[in-house]
Amino acid sequence: MRTHIAIVGSGIVGAAAAYRLRKKGVAVTIVERADSRGQATAAGAGIICPWVDHDGDDAWYGFAREGARAYPTLLEELAGDGETDPGYARTGALLTADDAAGLDDVAALLRDRSPLAPEMGEVSVPDDPGGLFPPLTKDLAALFVGGAARVDGRGVRDAMLRAAAQRGAMLRTGTAGLDAKGRLSINGEPIGADAVILAAGAWTGELCAPLGHRLSVRPERGQIVHAELPGTDTSGWPIVLPRVGPYLLGFPGSRVVFGATCEEAGFDGRATVGGLSGLLSAGLTVAPGLASATALEIRVGFRPMTGDGRPMIGSLAPGVVVATGLSAYGLTTGPLAGCLAADLAIGEPTTIDLTPFTPLRETDPVS
Ligand SMILES: Cc1cc2nc3c(=O)[nH]c(=O)nc-3n(C[C@H](O)[C@H](O)[C@H](O)COP(=O)(O)OP(=O)(O)OC[C@H]3O[C@@H](n4cnc5c(N)ncnc54)[C@H](O)[C@@H]3O)c2cc1C
Repeated sequence: MRTHIAIVGSGIVGAAAAYRLRKKGVAVTIVERADSRGQATAAGAGIICPWVDHDGDDAWYGFAREGARAYPTLLEELAGDGETDPGYARTGALLTADDAAGLDDVAALLRDRSPLAPEMGEVSVPDDPGGLFPPLTKDLAALFVGGAARVDGRGVRDAMLRAAAQRGAMLRTGTAGLDAKGRLSINGEPIGADAVILAAGAWTGELCAPLGHRLSVRPERGQIVHAELPGTDTSGWPIVLPRVGPYLLGFPGSRVVFGATCEEAGFDGRATVGGLSGLLSAGLTVAPGLASATALEIRVGFRPMTGDGRPMIGSLAPGVVVATGLSAYGLTTGPLAGCLAADLAIGEPTTIDLTPFTPLRETDPVS
């Protein structure tokens, strides 16, 4: 019987695992580095609209769909723990293209998927997309997906961490390491835990090396810009998701987010002139009305990517569970992935077949 689980990483996956375990009465120690710069959860945009992606990969699509579907239950549970505003809102999404033909493929995909995903809500052609997202250029074709939502990654992460801590989870600051037998230490000092969950995002591969596994997990750099439109309530604006190129989304506090670059740059956490210029100019092409917005903040994070693009959730060795590789969908699927990892760590059956996501599978090696 495993009664004490250690979790490496306090991003959305580690936070969800900790919350789940404390709700089940299992002792939890979360380990997070003193410098968590580059954490994907802290940089993520927050789009939850899984029905438009992963055409051709049913396992991944199904997982992302379940991740989005799990949010309302999570929100209820958090509210029961006094966390009433983790930053989630069902705003809908505007899929845009230069002309209507550019939306035919995605419209067909949504039609196919809607019977098994009624939570995607109504899909319609809006009369006036600019009425929903005022800075938008006039001449775009658009489809509105009513069930899409946006979430503040930091908000939901912190709500789960606070709720877990209130229920007794321990958060320790330091760098975690494994030995060849899967035993965990913080800054070299052993932690006596019955099992460990590796929710270390893009760093999970290097963490597993002492076990003799070379996991194909690599970082993909994402740069993202937060801007402000003073005096404008942007909190209910839909996500703008062009079929090609960067996206836009609104948050409370008159914020608008321009996201995001997708770059192979290793763990280079700098914001770059080239990255930002491409992002902002693409955003302004779609929404020229944002040109006068105040530039507030640049965030940079590393998406955890795998060799075959699929998540890695499963046992790697006795007492060692991996939960990473959620790529650009980790704010959608992170709470679900954390819960599944928690169940695996204490030997409970999982509600989803994780065979396609085993970390023991063969994938392309990391570059
Ligand atoms: C710019 C950008 C935009 C995104 N937009 C979206 C979106 O719109 N929708 C969506 O669904 N997803 C989005 N994502 C993806 C999503 O953010 C990630 O998939 C998700 O946050 C990954 O969470 P995680 O917990 O696995 O990893 P992380 O959030 O990276 O957390 C891992 C943690 O582990 C810690 N750690 C690592 N090694 C150690 C160690 N040895 N010891 C102690 N601690 C350690 C790190 O410091 C870090 O805090 C986006 C990502 C980025 C970067």
